[in-house]
Amino acid sequence: MQRTYRIAVLPGDGIGPEVVGVAVDVLRAIQRVMGDLNLEFIYGEAGYNCIEKYGTNLPQNTIEILKETHACLKGPMTTPEEPGAPPSVAVTIRKMFNLYANIRPCRSLPGVWSLKPNIDLVIVRENTECLYFGKEYEVAPGKGIALRVITREASEKVARVAFRLAERRRRYLTCVHKKNILRITDGIFRDAVFTVSKEFPSVYVDEEHVDAMAMRLIKEPERFDVIVTTNLYGDILSDEAAQITGGIGLAPGANIGDNYGMFEPVHGSAPKHAGKNKANPIATILASKMMLEWLGEYEAARLVERAVEDVLREGKARTYDLGGNATTRDVGNAIIENILKRG
Ligand code: NAD
Repeated sequence: MQRTYRIAVLPGDGIGPEVVGVAVDVLRAIQRVMGDLNLEFIYGEAGYNCIEKYGTNLPQNTIEILKETHACLKGPMTTPEEPGAPPSVAVTIRKMFNLYANIRPCRSLPGVWSLKPNIDLVIVRENTECLYFGKEYEVAPGKGIALRVITREASEKVARVAFRLAERRRRYLTCVHKKNILRITDGIFRDAVFTVSKEFPSVYVDEEHVDAMAMRLIKEPERFDVIVTTNLYGDILSDEAAQITGGIGLAPGANIGDNYGMFEPVHGSAPKHAGKNKANPIATILASKMMLEWLGEYEAARLVERAVEDVLREGKARTYDLGGNATTRDVGNAIIENILKRG
């Protein structure tokens, strides 16, 4: 029986259209070999490139597309930095669709330099609150304040996502906070995680301060399984974790809520590489693999993952960030060829 999913595709800015273009071609190849999987791609405009034309980086038409689809594959977008400019598209979509959990896996990959050979961890980051709540004020000239909002409800929700993930993995969860300094906000987060832990007796849970965690990610990253933390800490720790397993060109991220998922590379729009066909498309391809998993298409997801691993292991098609000189397209074509060969 055919299974049909409507996928919103937002190519974005900078290197976005190049890496998303390749990821969509990989998904088309997956469709061909699966036979019973039907992905309908619906393209939407979003990003810095829209501001002049629409006065916003997320036009209404694109919001309608998101509402009518099962999931979104999103390219990186340039965030406007002028005061009063619209907020980041990723942040807006996360809030609008209550995509409260940001999942960023980090794993040593074959043929790729990694700080340790056996890193396999996932950072689950609360995605809607903390300092990213977006309430910042200049209360007097030269004096700014930002609100850090943490609620038990949102903390418990993200904790459940993390514990469910840990149950399917090595059953070890680390709660990262800084309760010794931020006693109220991080206290609420930490206590929510430990309250939820009672629902998951098979998962061993411990805790770490964020500064110590940043150090332990370098010292002994292989010890960690699932890490759950608040928005800002998670943003920073996940870039660090990406760097110890081959770099940001390989790191995917999923933003999930109860009814919708948005999948994107962790990296930004890298404007200096735009239009040069040299960016690594693997982060976006692995984001689309996470999307297939979230849709319940595990076999298709495995096919993507194996093809990526084979191409990395072979080492012939590598972009500049992995020490090669292959183009974005070359890497995509090698992955597509591998998928079609298996099919
Ligand atoms: P960036 O991730 O775009 O680039 C930093 C550097 O990382 C690049 O110069 C490049 O050397 C390398 N890099 C990034 N992606 C790569 C890839 N696929 N292949 C090879 N090398 C890669 O970070 P930045 O320069 O801080 O941000 C640029 C813009 O992107 C900013 O406007 C920022 O706000 C935005 N941004 C958007 C998102 C998002 O859309 N979710 C995420 C992060 C940053």
